[in-house]
Amino acid sequence: MTPVRTGVTAGVLGAGVIGAAIARALAGRGALVTLIDAQDRSREASWAAGGMLAPHSEFDAPSPLFDLGRASLALYPALRDELLDATGQDIDLRLSGTLLPALTAADEREIEAKRAFLASQGIAHQLLSPAQLAREEPALTTAARGALETPDHAVDNRRLWSALFEDCARRGVVMAMGERIERVETHAGRVTGLHTAARMIAADEFVLAAGAWSGGLASLFGFDLPAEPIKGQLLKLDVPPDLVRRVIRHGHTYLVPRTGTELVVGATSEEAGFEKAVTEEAMCHLHRSAAALVPALAKRPVMERWAGLRPRLADGLPALGRVPGLANLTLATGHYRNGILLTPITGEIVARLIHGEDPGADLAPFDPARFPAA
Ligand SMILES: Cc1cc2nc3c(=O)[nH]c(=O)nc-3n(C[C@H](O)[C@H](O)[C@H](O)COP(=O)(O)OP(=O)(O)OC[C@H]3O[C@@H](n4cnc5c(N)ncnc54)[C@H](O)[C@@H]3O)c2cc1C
Repeated sequence: MTPVRTGVTAGVLGAGVIGAAIARALAGRGALVTLIDAQDRSREASWAAGGMLAPHSEFDAPSPLFDLGRASLALYPALRDELLDATGQDIDLRLSGTLLPALTAADEREIEAKRAFLASQGIAHQLLSPAQLAREEPALTTAARGALETPDHAVDNRRLWSALFEDCARRGVVMAMGERIERVETHAGRVTGLHTAARMIAADEFVLAAGAWSGGLASLFGFDLPAEPIKGQLLKLDVPPDLVRRVIRHGHTYLVPRTGTELVVGATSEEAGFEKAVTEEAMCHLHRSAAALVPALAKRPVMERWAGLRPRLADGLPALGRVPGLANLTLATGHYRNGILLTPITGEIVARLIHGEDPGADLAPFDPARFPAA
């Protein structure tokens, strides 16, 4: 159905999954949206990610971010269906759970603590014995003393971006791709325009959703945002279909199966500024760690190697909400390790905020005003 125009015009800065989801949600409410990105096709964190949708493996205690992550995960099946209907693109949402195997006594203590946390929250989970693992995940190392299965899932984040982007275009979003924001105009506590080399983009409302670059862009808007990039390197192995049936995580290593013969292996976590070089050392380490979990991976060929920058704010939480002192600027950034997970809910929250509706979530912990200079 074609949305009725609400008369709101919006400029969304940054066309990763966060900006694309926001532009799509705004256009779905009838806003006239311009989506602006320095690249012709955004290929930053949203392209680089592992695609895990993993609040239960990421967190060990209740927190507002855990709740937000769970709420966002619950939106995924409907988003998958909508995107498939609208674009014909399948985002490869895999609802097959995540295995956290225990290889050592310390791992056993860790998964017991995680199990107790999930039980305390009434969240379904399962402990698998070595015999069950041999049946259900036969390629997993026989060194596994057992595993916890959590209700964490995965999506192909590159397909997700592509489907969101196509649906934005279908909903009438104006694309300003390949246009870098170089200057920002403000007047009387409002943003009045964004300047690229080619033009000035004026709108009623603006959203800053530029991932790891949001800190630098914040200074163009005249405020400080304590943002830093956290580099992650990954590789992709060519594997027989179904060698690994669901996401497997152990320590910093994760294995994420994709459609066909692809298996994503992640990831490093490095403070390296904005450089994205892939190193032999990291690749060997990732491949070795993957083979320690699934020995058959030792001999599998590498299909692709890459790196990306996680957008991290000083306290590790995202910033979602209005920027103090700039009445028509909303921040949606700092999604750090969980931006793919948080994509559906971020789009919805920002669209509601801009339309003056109840955001449907407690945003106090994510208020941009928590940073003194914001
Ligand atoms: C290695 C790695 C693994 C990850 N794994 C997971 C995972 O398994 N699960 C999960 O939930 N999350 C994961 N994440 C985190 C997730 O990818 C990010 O939180 C999320 O993609 C951030 O999306 P974004 O749209 O804010 O930023 P990005 O995707 O980085 O997009 C920012 C956009 O802003 C644009 N931009 C920058 N400066 C300008 C400018 N001056 N003018 C115009 N445009 C500009 C860029 O070109 C870019 O397209 C991972 C991240 C990395 C790097």
